Amino acid sequence: MDWKKLTSDMEFLGTFPGRLPDALYPEVAFVGRSNVGKSSAINALLHRRKAARVSGTPGRTQAVNLFRISDRLVFADLPGYGFAKAPESARKAWGRLVRRYLFKREALALVVQLVDARHTAQKVDIEMVDLLTESEVPFIVVATKIDRVKRAKQKAQLAAIARGLRMPADQIIPFSSTEKVGLDLVWSV
Ligand code: GDP
Repeated sequence: MDWKKLTSDMEFLGTFPGRLPDALYPEVAFVGRSNVGKSSAINALLHRRKAARVSGTPGRTQAVNLFRISDRLVFADLPGYGFAKAPESARKAWGRLVRRYLFKREALALVVQLVDARHTAQKVDIEMVDLLTESEVPFIVVATKIDRVKRAKQKAQLAAIARGLRMPADQIIPFSSTEKVGLDLVWSV
């Protein structure tokens, strides 16, 4: 797939706090902790500077942003999780929205779970992987901000993250939005 060509025809379909519009094409959803670099990753994958908003205040909106990519795919940017200061009500709203999406959205083809390459898997990340496993939706794990991990330490760090998530190390894709690492690999999935 020539993704640069594909993403040259991209349209922001909107922000949906409630019911989603009927699916146009197979959807690829992005999940991750607030501030993990989700918006930046989506922008990098879409070859755009600001299709998705790079957040100043994390964990605010409980909504899904949809992006149509050519006549092939839709990207769904799900709200971030694990923001320490988020009130309980926001956490509950997140759970409802994400569960509904993961378990009911028939067009959902793949989930891209983002984790921060600088840290080992956090409890909330493990819970997310458990939820994805329960939903039986195919998913990949992408380790963002790999540019912040010294080259010599990257392999061991990815292995540590994989152990934390109880998955094989070669299933974690190293990624950097700033250095444009891993874009082709993610698109190839
Ligand atoms: P989101 O809350 O998950 O959507 O995260 P953002 O995309 O808003 O990014 C959060 C912060 O991490 C911002 O300050 C970004 O500039 C920074 N960031 C995102 N991706 C990368 C990356 O690949 N490398 C580095 N070094 N910083 C990044």
